[in-house]
Amino acid sequence: MQSDAIVIGGGLVGAATAYGLAKEGLAVTVLDEGDVAFRASRGNFGLVWVQSKGDGYPDYAIWTRRSADLWPELDAMLKEETGVSTFYEKPGGLHFCLSEEELEKRKALIARLHNVHGAANYGARILDRQEVHDMMPGLGPDVVGGTYCEHDGHASPLYLLRALHDGLKRRGGRIVADAGARDISRDGEGYAVATPAGTFRAGRVVLAAGLGNKPLGETVGLRLPIAPLKGQILVTERTRPRLSMPTHVVRQTGEGSIMIGDSHEDVGFDISSSSDVMAQLAARAIRMFPFLKDLRIVRSWAALRIMSPDGYPIYQQSETHPGVFSVNCHSGVTLAGSHALALAPMIAKGALDEDLAAFSARRFDAPAN
Ligand SMILES: Cc1cc2nc3c(=O)[nH]c(=O)nc-3n(C[C@H](O)[C@H](O)[C@H](O)COP(=O)(O)OP(=O)(O)OC[C@H]3O[C@@H](n4cnc5c(N)ncnc54)[C@H](O)[C@@H]3O)c2cc1C
Repeated sequence: MQSDAIVIGGGLVGAATAYGLAKEGLAVTVLDEGDVAFRASRGNFGLVWVQSKGDGYPDYAIWTRRSADLWPELDAMLKEETGVSTFYEKPGGLHFCLSEEELEKRKALIARLHNVHGAANYGARILDRQEVHDMMPGLGPDVVGGTYCEHDGHASPLYLLRALHDGLKRRGGRIVADAGARDISRDGEGYAVATPAGTFRAGRVVLAAGLGNKPLGETVGLRLPIAPLKGQILVTERTRPRLSMPTHVVRQTGEGSIMIGDSHEDVGFDISSSSDVMAQLAARAIRMFPFLKDLRIVRSWAALRIMSPDGYPIYQQSETHPGVFSVNCHSGVTLAGSHALALAPMIAKGALDEDLAAFSARRFDAPAN
């Protein structure tokens, strides 16, 4: 079974990259392990978030903003081609501070990021107590201020995934389930990927298997030091429109549920929910929005982020296996625009642009003495 490109992993990162490759005219096959694998894309919060991204790492700040700028184009394309709405909206986003100390730290962060983007470009500003309460009526008295960024937005991660899969298929791509990659070997000018569903061949191979990338990378000369970081999320019953825009930890979905997120727990490959963490999430959310105390929680889950040691993405072509690329990140919703419309064209032409050099995993190699 021959294609121009094989994408290993059908989560948000693989699907966005595969869709972008198909848009470039490549015949694409996505191989996905299936429900037995860890799948961050089915457990995330759905923010398309720019503010606070890339502190100390300007390349990431710029790449994130680029993705937010590409999102409207991607969303419109997917809707037109598939009829699936991702519920994408870009009303801007709010981050709340619950103490003066938090607000001071936030001010310093925003000032540093202004230096990266330029004040006009960054589009984030500090809000004092009055401003933040005017902007989001119904906030609790504990909210002392916050920040607003006009480039922030949100979407349904599940509908995004569905739209990308549908869009890929409409562009002639195929998705093979229960096809975990077991071996990648050279095959003439390209590669053969062996799976329980058969062997697939292509000139290009993209490793987008989330946490599964680490062992796959080792077989093709890529050292990908990624690790899981657990996050838990709560979802309330549906309610009338209450929130005009997403916030960093509470957002209202297109269907009316309120999502409350999310924790950061370094506990290995554990995806159990825990009542103490859920209680902390709920308590913090109620301090921000007291009306939440009257809503019932109807769902909760835990999922694993895919984290590099510094938290920034890894994009790299293998030196020993040219044509094999790895793509990893912990913000697969936010970066879907960049993955589909900026990264995929680079992979299609066979080389990553120089401005992505900062994302090579070589940054984790010990410096030579
Ligand atoms: C609680 C939580 C909240 C989050 N909130 C946000 C947010 O608000 N905004 C945002 O941008 N991001 C958010 N994220 C991050 C986002 O979910 C991830 O960046 C994204 O889902 C990663 O997608 P992925 O495709 O790399 O990985 P995954 O979704 O894990 O997909 C990997 C896929 O690879 C497959 N696979 C694994 N091994 C193999 C193999 N050997 N062969 C074939 N297939 C294989 C699996 O079946 C799976 O489908 C959040 C994550 C969590 C956990």
